[in-house]
Amino acid sequence: MECSLCIHTEKTRKIIDGLCIDCLTYKKYPPDFERMKREVEDILKSLKGKKYPCILALSGGKDSVLALKMLVEEFKIKPLCVAVNNKYMADEAKDNIINITEYYGLDLFMINRDFTDLFNETIGRGESPCRRCSRLIMREVWRVAKRLNIKYIITGHELPFGHSAIREMKEGVKMIRLLAPYRIKEEEKYKLIKDLPFKKPNLFGYTTNCLVLGLAIQRFYDKYGFSFEIDRIATMVRIGLLSKEKAKKLVEKPKVPDELIEELKRRGLKI
Ligand SMILES: [Zn+2]
Repeated sequence: MECSLCIHTEKTRKIIDGLCIDCLTYKKYPPDFERMKREVEDILKSLKGKKYPCILALSGGKDSVLALKMLVEEFKIKPLCVAVNNKYMADEAKDNIINITEYYGLDLFMINRDFTDLFNETIGRGESPCRRCSRLIMREVWRVAKRLNIKYIITGHELPFGHSAIREMKEGVKMIRLLAPYRIKEEEKYKLIKDLPFKKPNLFGYTTNCLVLGLAIQRFYDKYGFSFEIDRIATMVRIGLLSKEKAKKLVEKPKVPDELIEELKRRGLKI
């Protein structure tokens, strides 16, 4: 049985009267996106005209590129762009980071790290590396914020933290998920960035910058029989960012081609 609102099935969620428990909770306590928008915009208005008023965590994927466009063009804010290359970033994403910051005339701080051990360990066990990887990346970005005394880190995440787009990090730094209050549909995002120097890599899973995600999902699938991205994708369907049809395609088991496996091995992965 499948949830009538999102794409969860009995395999991944408890379903009661045709709705999964996540959708039932969502209907009972719906997030107030208008309030989220006001909270974010109040902060952004106060940042106008300052030097490095915030950091934009730039991954080179479509969402952070769109967040940067909104920041510069709509809110007239020039952030410091910070990118963390974990050694498994698609070449297109790296180009996007350089080209987009050049296009807007912004300063870029690129941090190079090597997450090979993390990926070998998690993917080797058939588990998702995503939470640990993004935590490590945000830690690097947070360090830059602390060093330069910058209070806000803007990201391109499209889902809120429950009922807010803003989260307190350690020591007074706040993270703002800029796209969350606006609920921009997938197709719409590509239209919005079509005039920017953005190249879309051909990847697996819901990503436009990460080379390891497809393989990680494939191994997880072998172990558990579904994609670990199901929660995120189901939430996107629930709040209207993705159609059920597209979402179902995204959570299918990826068939990672040999060339990509070879590329991952060249970068250090022992899988
Ligand atoms: Zn549901």
